[in-house]
Amino acid sequence: MKLKDEIQRYSKLNGYEISHYHDVLCRCKSEKFLLFSDDTEGSAFAKCVKCKTKLDILDSLKYASDLTQNVCNCGNEALCIGIGIATYDTPEDHRWIYVGAHCDKCKLDGVYTDWNAR
Ligand SMILES: [Zn+2]
Ligand SMILES: [Zn+2]
Repeated sequence: MKLKDEIQRYSKLNGYEISHYHDVLCRCKSEKFLLFSDDTEGSAFAKCVKCKTKLDILDSLKYASDLTQNVCNCGNEALCIGIGIATYDTPEDHRWIYVGAHCDKCKLDGVYTDWNAR
């Protein structure tokens, strides 16, 4: 998975390397989402393009104040999303959260937002 590699690379540069990674999958089995984030507060949610379900990424939505949509450089907004987590000692103990996306159209992988876990 290339997106995981990109998040790994990014997280290493950030100083808090991820130890966990997962792709976001909707309960309708779709893996394409619209991605919204608040980069100042550190918050993001994904909205399934198929069934419109809203997924709160790691319970961060309660912190959001100004959410903006993330789109790929090519203009595509239906993205495959992956989440990387850097932890302290235990997996539940989140330290830093990275939200990345893969674009099916132009094949770009990137980290769109990341925040220090609260
Ligand atoms: Zn869905
Ligand atoms: Zn693209």
